[in-house]
Amino acid sequence: MASEHKFLKFILPARAFEAVKKGTKQWLIECKCGHLRDFWDLGGVRYKAVGEPRQYLNCPECQKNTWHKIREKTEAEKLQV
Ligand SMILES: [Zn+2]
Repeated sequence: MASEHKFLKFILPARAFEAVKKGTKQWLIECKCGHLRDFWDLGGVRYKAVGEPRQYLNCPECQKNTWHKIREKTEAEKLQV
């Protein structure tokens, strides 16, 4: 578990933590090269948020530091989890 999530689990009641986890699991982070990662697995927290922010990250696929797009998963991608 990511340290961000350990902290969340510590401060939130179990039900609230599960809700945040479920909400964040709807999101993924996408590199310009097309490499996709689960936002939750990266230690991300996204709950009842709107819009599509960006995050500057290193991509393990293309080995570059680029602005990654955070977006909601498509229906097909949600089913893969
Ligand atoms: Zn990449």
